[in-house]
Amino acid sequence: MPSPIGHMVAGLAVGWAAHALEAARSQPGDPAGAAPGRLASAGSIPVAFCALLAAAPDADILMASHRTYTHSVGAIALVGLAAAAGALWLRRPAVTAALVCAAAWGSHVFLDWLGHDGTPPIGLMALWPFTDRYYSSGFDLFADVSRRYWNLDEFVFGNARSIARELVVLAPLALAALWWQRRSTGPPPHPAPGL
Ligand SMILES: [Zn+2]
Repeated sequence: MPSPIGHMVAGLAVGWAAHALEAARSQPGDPAGAAPGRLASAGSIPVAFCALLAAAPDADILMASHRTYTHSVGAIALVGLAAAAGALWLRRPAVTAALVCAAAWGSHVFLDWLGHDGTPPIGLMALWPFTDRYYSSGFDLFADVSRRYWNLDEFVFGNARSIARELVVLAPLALAALWWQRRSTGPPPHPAPGL
């Protein structure tokens, strides 16, 4: 399953794509939309926050419940609801906030599902609260990340190989999303002559 670095790169991709979509949908003069040249608009979630959200489900390692509740559709729904509530409190578009935050968190669940898992129970409790079963795609698109820091070869060189593999897959997606976001928001408007 991907490292925090891989998950954060995926979160950046979600954030940039969300900003690009928002800019593409916004109308000129729309105060809730992304004005040309602005990286973030009133209704959007900061891209860096998307990266943090995409890595956050692995905080369950600290609670000895790895790949369970935080790696599920239930957690994705709760994150979306919490984001909507926060956005309403801040008088920002709630649906946009809910979708972007849920997508960032959901990217973690999706990538883990695609990755290799060598520690039973294999997979993640992806459909909680509907079932406690563990699911794995079997695609093994991403390698395992070792936390056995006492094994230098495995921890340093093995993890470096795993992270390189993640970047080969995810960095092009993130760069494409960044290019799309830059293209959608465009350069800052030039001041009119004489002003
Ligand atoms: Zn995970």
